[in-house]
Amino acid sequence: MGLTNSSTGSTAAFEKGLTRTGSEKLVAFAGNPNVGKSTVFNALTGMRQHTGNWSGKTVTNACGNYETEKYKYILADIPGTYSLSARSPEEQIARDFICFGGSDAVVVVCDASCLERNLSLVMQTALITPNVIVCINLIDEAERKGIRIDAGRLSKTLGLPVAAVIARKKRTLSALTEAMDSLISGEAPEPRGMCIPAPIERAAERVTEAVDAALGKNYINRWLALKLIYCDASLRIKLNEVYGDRLFDNEEVRSAVNAARGELLNEGIGEEEYGNLLSAGAVLSAEEAAAEATAERGAPYSAFDRAADKIVTGKALAFPVMLLMLGIILWITIVGANYPSQLLSKGAFWLEGRLSELFTLAKIPERLADAAVTGVFRVLGWVVSVMLPPMAIFFPLFTILEDAGFLPRIAFNLDRPFCRCDACGKQALTMCMGLGCNAAGVIGCRIIDSPRERLLAILTNCYVPCNGRFPALLSVITMFFIGSAGGLAASAISALCLTAAILTGIAATFAATGLLSKTVLRGEPSSFTLELPSYRLPKFGETLVRSVFERTLFVLGRAALVAAPAGLIIWLAANVTVHGSTVLDICSSFLDPVGRLMGLDGVILIAFILGFPANEIVIPITVMAYTAQSGLVGIENIEQLKSVFISNGWTPLTAVCFIIFLLMHWPCSTTLLTIKKETGSLKYTALSALLPTVSGFVICVLINLFADLIAG
Ligand code: GDP
Repeated sequence: MGLTNSSTGSTAAFEKGLTRTGSEKLVAFAGNPNVGKSTVFNALTGMRQHTGNWSGKTVTNACGNYETEKYKYILADIPGTYSLSARSPEEQIARDFICFGGSDAVVVVCDASCLERNLSLVMQTALITPNVIVCINLIDEAERKGIRIDAGRLSKTLGLPVAAVIARKKRTLSALTEAMDSLISGEAPEPRGMCIPAPIERAAERVTEAVDAALGKNYINRWLALKLIYCDASLRIKLNEVYGDRLFDNEEVRSAVNAARGELLNEGIGEEEYGNLLSAGAVLSAEEAAAEATAERGAPYSAFDRAADKIVTGKALAFPVMLLMLGIILWITIVGANYPSQLLSKGAFWLEGRLSELFTLAKIPERLADAAVTGVFRVLGWVVSVMLPPMAIFFPLFTILEDAGFLPRIAFNLDRPFCRCDACGKQALTMCMGLGCNAAGVIGCRIIDSPRERLLAILTNCYVPCNGRFPALLSVITMFFIGSAGGLAASAISALCLTAAILTGIAATFAATGLLSKTVLRGEPSSFTLELPSYRLPKFGETLVRSVFERTLFVLGRAALVAAPAGLIIWLAANVTVHGSTVLDICSSFLDPVGRLMGLDGVILIAFILGFPANEIVIPITVMAYTAQSGLVGIENIEQLKSVFISNGWTPLTAVCFIIFLLMHWPCSTTLLTIKKETGSLKYTALSALLPTVSGFVICVLINLFADLIAG
């Protein structure tokens, strides 16, 4: 669906599009990254755009509805940008939306703690449209740093409405919504504008006249004139799209541009100097306005942030601290998940019994009842009891870390190792997102500007185990490596093993990234700037609700959807016979030699293949296949589960190979589709599946051979 642009008639495509009716007013939310745009947007629209304390989360436009007593609004959350020069894809999306999105007003959200830098975007936006509202956010954080902003004074200096808010406190947003209503009611702002050197101003005047003649008088024409004098390729394409041949093919405009360039050259202003002077003008004006409006000046960084950064990003402590944090998160997940998992499993087992009774009472044919109960229901019960508790704990913990501002610090720490692999430190961020969900990690790779480095990050993202693979890792670790340890010791060993498994995934990410950048994706690492945001106290309640309802239930729902048919397939395979053998036996015997070579067996490989839509079902399917083969009944606890595995030939070596293959095999179908969408290439999609599968296969075979060698 699209959104029709009222002023230009063009259509701006939205990720989550809405249709705009005539009476609705469109307001765009722009701003530097990580200033709280999505938080304001979510608070007003009730939507759940991804928020988090790091730059680059919002990579596409999203829109939602909001209504005041006076107007109905469509609000658009656009990607964060430092300027409108459109140097990166997100800046381009933001610029195109502000210029040609047909919005009735643009709210530029600013961070009160670093007003100068944020106001530079305000200056640039006010060149495009007068309908700008400045929303000074994070007032609470600024006050903690001893910074106080005089909103009234700033409004006078800029000639624009200014609303000071704390986006996390919804009631403070009334200042902003009132400003929106006033502006729409016709109280047009009169921006004071930014400093533009006199020669450029004169040159622009000349071109503006020509543009006025070509397109008709419009506020944006002066900005167009400034851009036309030296126009970058991406804007030229966009302008051609919007204005057709009315601009670049217009003789009057062309000669005005040539004359303007000549005049500027006479003043010693070439193309580079021109761009520099315009940027400097915006920065200078922003600095002046900020200086006037800042009533009290504290330091933009708090003493706490500095002290914490000495530990979290310090040379000696950074890596131990990161490891410790990972270990603690996993430990909490394991300890917390244990009991509810057992309860859910008992509940599912009990329900299975009742369901069987019900089917018998209802005189449902035995085979059909068996397919429904031991096929569909048992796998479903497994998925819910094994997956739900760890996910419901891990996701909120991860979101809390994200909200507190740790993610960019991890990227900062991992920048050097990634540079050694000729990749970009931002890959660490996408890797962290992959820990939650690889498909989200792949989409997150859009924050990497260089196409080569983005591809590296996309192709290697699935080496870090997503949350869907955690439960399988946990079950196998608990069964084979905890031994007789109980209580605290058991959970500590589990956490250590799980940390080791994740570190293996991270090491594989580095190895694969290095391999790719030395072969098919050769190139120099690019430099990048990543802001280290202030540490922020996470919003615990909202985090919990958001991660449980958005991530946990979403992932669980997806897994359950896949588990039901997969359970039925396995049941059918175990019950349909061909020449006296079940289909499951035939398939597993066929795959068995390959499985044995890898230290696994045919059944495990079938489970991996059936787990293609969702990795979560690999263990449940393996159990089902084993129990179907051996005629065992339900499994109530981990000890019973272990005995099923052992009676099917599992040893600690099988467990190690299973963990390796779980870490390194093809991505799930959702991730693979996302990779195809993001790269637009079948070749790279195939490579993203082949690379981990081949590495997993080779490592498993080597481990198995090595173990054979030692044993015998
Ligand atoms: P965006 O990148 O501009 O969309 O920023 P987000 O909306 O994702 O917010 C960045 C971080 O700042 C998140 O952790 C928010 O919870 C936090 N945040 C947003 N507004 C405020 C605020 O007014 N006060 C405080 N303390 N934190 C805020």
